[in-house]
Formats: sequence, structure tokens, C-alpha cells
Amino acid sequence: MAKEHILVVEDEEDIQELVRYNLAKEGYRVTQSLTGEDGFKTAKTAHPDLILLDLMLPGLDGLEVCRHLKADPKTSHTPIIMLTAKGEESDVVTGLELGADDYMTKPFSPKVLIARMRAVLRRKAKASADEEAPLKAREIVIHPGRHEVLVKGKIVNLTFTEFQLLHFLARRPGWVFTRQQIVDEIKGEDYPVTDRSVDVQVVGLRKKLGTCGEYIETVRGVGYRFKE
Ligand code: CA
Repeated sequence: MAKEHILVVEDEEDIQELVRYNLAKEGYRVTQSLTGEDGFKTAKTAHPDLILLDLMLPGLDGLEVCRHLKADPKTSHTPIIMLTAKGEESDVVTGLELGADDYMTKPFSPKVLIARMRAVLRRKAKASADEEAPLKAREIVIHPGRHEVLVKGKIVNLTFTEFQLLHFLARRPGWVFTRQQIVDEIKGEDYPVTDRSVDVQVVGLRKKLGTCGEYIETVRGVGYRFKE
């Protein structure tokens, strides 16, 4: 069974070797980076499934790398486990707040590290499966995996952008989203989505949803929400 691809960003070569050896033995594919700069660059091009990130790195340090990774759409969803030395608790807190998933304090047992990695990977897989799960919002059923929408049991053909818009709003009924938040979320593939075109998309979507179109509510001066 092909296992996940792990990027290890760590400047201490003995730790690199210990981790590489144990992960390879478990069947993981391992890519190594010795600096923060290289780690960030590699993460963007090699698309690892998980990153083991040392915090004390020469040059760009681990927290900076974490910040860059979370800010870049190409890497923002990649789970991160920080590798830390004793006494770096405040950095651990900062790292977790930046979006890292977990941490290991050195020296660590490779077995425990692998167990933590599995837990993080499982959590991520479950989160993305939930995103793919069918969603029922009143008389509307949305199948993200199949890109299909049923209104009162009948299939309605939506454009890619209309689908994204409906799915985004219906996932959080009652929450108000600004046009900018909607633009950031749905990034149209049929054409670039702008503030103004959100309004156009909403008009088109409401029409296709028929009587259920009224569930897409306009919140004056703010944006849109799916009726709670
Ligand atoms: Ca180090």
C-alpha cells in the first residue's frame, strides 16, 4: 500500500536520519529539507501529505515557515507537526495558533512520532470526507462529490460557481457572509468572481432554485446568508 509523502524540515542531520530511517521502514515516502527556505519551497512544489517542521532552524525559523505555509493557498491545508526542543513552550503555543496541528518535544521516540502522524493524517482525512458528505438544507440536497444539487428531489443544473456559492452558504445556515468572503471562498473557474459578480451569481442561483431561491437571503449592506 502506498503510504503518505512526508516532508521533514530539520537542520540536525542525526535527527533527519533517525526520522527518515523510521518513516521509510514504515513505508512512508520521505523528502528532506535542511533549511526553512528550502522547506517552504519544497512544500509548495512537492505537495507533501504532512510536514514535520523543526522550530529552531538557521535563517528562516520554524515559526516563520509555519506562517508562510499557512498563508499560501498551495500549502495552507497541509498538516504540520512541529519538532521542538525543551523550553520552547511559548513557541509551541504560537505555532498551534498559527495553525500547526501538533508538536513533538525532542528527544522523541520514532514510534510515538509515527502514532502522532497517523492521528493527524486521520483527522485531516475525516475533515475532508465531511466536506464531501451530502448536505441537506431544507428541501435542497447538495452532493459535493458528484457536484449535484437536488431541489425537492429533482436535479437542478448549476454552473460551477453557482454550485460553490450555494454549497458555501448552505454549509452554515444563518451565518452572514460579505461579498468579499464569498469571492475568497468560491474562486470561480468559469470566470473570475468579483464583488459585483457575486450579486449576478445570486440572481442566477435563486432563479434556478425556484421557490427555494428565497433561502438565499440578502442582508442589506452586509452580504448574503442561507436562511436558518
Ligand atoms: Ca534545529
